[in-house]
Amino acid sequence: MAKENYVQIIGVVESEPKYNETRGRTAYEVQTIRSGKRRDNLYVQAYGAAAMAANEFKVGDLVMATGVVAVNDVKKTEYCPSCEERIIREMNVTEVAAVSNLRLYEAGTDFNLEDFADASNVVKIMGTVLFKPNLINTGKGPLAKYIVSLNRRFIIDGQTRRQDDPYVVSYGKQAMEVNENLRTDSLVYINGAMQTRNIEIKRECPYCKCKYKVVSNIREIIPYNIEFLANCEKGVKERPRKDIGA
Ligand SMILES: [Zn+2]
Repeated sequence: MAKENYVQIIGVVESEPKYNETRGRTAYEVQTIRSGKRRDNLYVQAYGAAAMAANEFKVGDLVMATGVVAVNDVKKTEYCPSCEERIIREMNVTEVAAVSNLRLYEAGTDFNLEDFADASNVVKIMGTVLFKPNLINTGKGPLAKYIVSLNRRFIIDGQTRRQDDPYVVSYGKQAMEVNENLRTDSLVYINGAMQTRNIEIKRECPYCKCKYKVVSNIREIIPYNIEFLANCEKGVKERPRKDIGA
């Protein structure tokens, strides 16, 4: 079965790159722009030769990275607001695993990120849906959340798995379509972008049992266009392609 997992990012480096020598990778944050002018701060991990190149990046550089969508397990430390105990949370972070990245312009050069809107945040994935979407009615209309399981061709960081399960979020009319069509094992093709949003999460302290809220930064994929390829509730239908960013 054909598979696709491709990301292209053109954006401004937002954080000083951190090179991890033992793991041979460099992490940095980059701000991208979409056609709708929305800006997202994405997390990039560069591997191999790309890690060395990324280590030379400076905050404010305009860089281009290509690679795949990857989901990494990370441990995050927080402190209970009541008893102040240290709590370690295991989380999934959706990121760009870059196999190549290069500096387009140095910080201080006269460039305009808006000129790169069509190429700044490009995600093309094909994969299988893990479970029926969860449809939520928000104050701003329907939202459907689901996971699309992807394959990648290279192994990251000694992991044995070559599969990533990022969250995908659809809004409005697309959320309704997704809810009607997708179920476990549906095959979809998505042309979209990576989105960053802040959500409020309810927690319970494992020590004093107090309840508190934290604001967490989550990254997910939003489709501009989704094609229902196989195993969909309503069968497969041809859909006209919309302009990217529409
Ligand atoms: Zn506590």
